[in-house]
Amino acid sequence: MFDTSATPGDRQGRALHSALMSRRIGVMGGTFDPIHHGHLVAAEEARWQFDLDRVVFVPTGRPWQKPVGVSPAEDRYRMTVLATASNPAFTVSRLEVDHQGPTYTVDTLRRLRAAQPAGTRLFFITGADAVLQILTWKEPDQVLALAEFIAATRPGFDLDRLIGQVSGAAGRVHRIEIPALAISSSDLRTRVARGAPIQYLVPDEVARYIHDHALYRSPAAPEAAGTQ
Ligand code: ATP
Ligand code: MG
Repeated sequence: MFDTSATPGDRQGRALHSALMSRRIGVMGGTFDPIHHGHLVAAEEARWQFDLDRVVFVPTGRPWQKPVGVSPAEDRYRMTVLATASNPAFTVSRLEVDHQGPTYTVDTLRRLRAAQPAGTRLFFITGADAVLQILTWKEPDQVLALAEFIAATRPGFDLDRLIGQVSGAAGRVHRIEIPALAISSSDLRTRVARGAPIQYLVPDEVARYIHDHALYRSPAAPEAAGTQ
């Protein structure tokens, strides 16, 4: 798409802005089993509201919080690539998918930070429910030191109450309002298993991938199939 509204002056201004300002990278971690429009809306809204240069989606390898019944990492990675392909600001990282054994957010953030120029600001984008998991993540103080958080509203979660429970979160957790989307991967898996439609809840390419690879047809996928 051509940006018809931007004048050469605007463009120059933006180039100068990005040269002088620190880079701002969004990190959207998730199981993405499967990725859906709730994830994509949260990432794009965070990119826009926080003027992020790009958003890196990081599908988990073997999420320690969800060890059972997670689909193969390669399927989740490919669906994430398909879902994000149309947005030039979105990229997908294999950092966790290629990692053997359980992965922790703190390690991922350390490795992402090490690969960026000094002064880069990392913003970890989560739904409201995931903020509370900061409390149970490995080294929560380190996680909060490595990245700021952008917590998106999600139906059914009281964000202020959740943030109030996280020590050290003050000033490091920003909240954004996103158009509420009551979509979850677990619900999508259940829908596929009972033959309900998922069109318009996930990008068409993702719906096609799920169909072509016969994902989620049985209520609980065997653990062995998926995790590394
Ligand atoms: P599951 O139901 O299996 O837990 P999920 O839909 O929560 O899946 P995850 O991969 O667990 O998806 O979530 C990745 C991140 O995206 C989390 O930070 C989660 O809070 C956020 N997220 C998921 N769905 C939404 C949504 N509908 N709106 C806003 N954020 C969301
Ligand atoms: Mg979840």
